[in-house]
Amino acid sequence: MELFHSTRSTAIQVTAKQAIRQGIADDGGLFVNDALGQTTIDIESLPGKSYQEIALEVLSALLPDFTSEELQECIDGAYGDNFTDDAITPLKAMGMNYVLELFHGPTSAFKDVALQILPRFMAHTTAPEPTSQEDITDRVLILTATSGDTGKAALEGFADVNSTGIVVFYPAGQVSEVQRLQMVTQKGSNVGVVAVRGNFDDAQSAVKNIFGDHTLAVQLATESATRLSSANSINVGRLVPQVVYYFAAYAQLLFTQEINFGDEVDFIVPTGNFGDILAGYYAKRLGLPVGKLEVASDKNNVLYDFLTTGVYDRNREFFTTISPSMDILISSNLERMLYYFSDGNTALISQLMNDLATTGRYEVPAEIMEKIRSVFDCSWADEDQVREAIAECWNENGYVIDPHTACGYHALSTTEGTPTAPRVVLSTASPYKFPRAVLEALGQEAPESDFACMDALQQFSGMKIPENLRSLENQSPRFTDEIDVADMPEYVKTMAARFAE
Ligand SMILES: *Cc1c(COP(=O)(O)O)cnc(C)c1O
Repeated sequence: MELFHSTRSTAIQVTAKQAIRQGIADDGGLFVNDALGQTTIDIESLPGKSYQEIALEVLSALLPDFTSEELQECIDGAYGDNFTDDAITPLKAMGMNYVLELFHGPTSAFKDVALQILPRFMAHTTAPEPTSQEDITDRVLILTATSGDTGKAALEGFADVNSTGIVVFYPAGQVSEVQRLQMVTQKGSNVGVVAVRGNFDDAQSAVKNIFGDHTLAVQLATESATRLSSANSINVGRLVPQVVYYFAAYAQLLFTQEINFGDEVDFIVPTGNFGDILAGYYAKRLGLPVGKLEVASDKNNVLYDFLTTGVYDRNREFFTTISPSMDILISSNLERMLYYFSDGNTALISQLMNDLATTGRYEVPAEIMEKIRSVFDCSWADEDQVREAIAECWNENGYVIDPHTACGYHALSTTEGTPTAPRVVLSTASPYKFPRAVLEALGQEAPESDFACMDALQQFSGMKIPENLRSLENQSPRFTDEIDVADMPEYVKTMAARFAE
């Protein structure tokens, strides 16, 4: 069986289950599998199959040490009534193009697709044979840095899961009001939510440092029998469920005969941490006829600059925008992409990531960039363009999109020449998570409260508010802590001890 190892070294090989349990490799790299694409999916057999059936085929190819029965159990639990659409990720025609709605899960963002199943994967993993003191653990504490949507989706997925705790760090004042309320009202006895004074990158870097802190790991093991893991898309168990909907979208296009078997389809993906779009690349490796994958960025356009120049440089101004979940300057999953496009050159990846850590920038050799550009396109939208895209989509299609999806929609109109393949924009969140920004973009007066904005948007558009969002108004906040980045390790220890009681 093909094993997983770090993007930075092949020395330690682990199973998919271990990789999921651990989250991130000990050397700070991300888990990858050199067999990616050796098993391909029989695409001709997909049309007419349910999302759940497609999920079983795709996940079997990507997580080889899970049995079919185990995967079936995970899938059945993850993709049922908790999604408000039977198709789980329905595809909607939008003029000449398509929108793939990924926001029908319990928290109304695409993160649910992965975070409803990740806890179920974890439940099938067991602690490895202890080889040192820090391995003697029977509890897992999930640490999650969020730019807005991962936090709530992870809380919803892990709340009240046995032997598991979860702590979410969000950047104070840099998530939407609805996103904040979703998190601070979370129920469950094993959850913690805390605002961090800093931006998402600060929080994500601090979490990565905590994962690499050996002394802390030993303390957590000896004092609370707890080992840390990650629900961010650095966890391979978070990434692979997202591969499924690329196949599901293609199957829907085949089923309605909008394409013929073998036709290429382009996907436009609103991008932050590069997890969603990387899943599209995994789909391509598994044999899906993916044409171009277009990275759609907001004003934090570090990926656009990288793809056009070959230089990744995070030394730049950070913008807080109306698409907060994409306000990211360090896109973690780029590391996996670079691994595959450098043909598994772990020495190069280590060097680049070391450059990033020490200087905030790295440069990728031209021949590798050429290969990357043969698959990935890029575009970005400033905030005015995001607002215009929301208005334009409404005017042309009578369909409301959120500010993240709008970055993708913007890309439709900026592509030069006639597109050669059907184009699917991934819609990553419900517009009702950002009702104020959306209402204003549509030229409407925005009332003072975000709930009044939701009601006004429903009145205006006729699109129904998801119940999980509307009902937030009547729930009391449970979490009010705000801490400095430097205090995060101490906070983790306190929470681990509390959950272990
Ligand atoms: C997380 C998120 C993104 C970015 O996805 P990545 O996998 O981090 O690239 C885009 N839009 C929304 C609404 C999100 O929540």
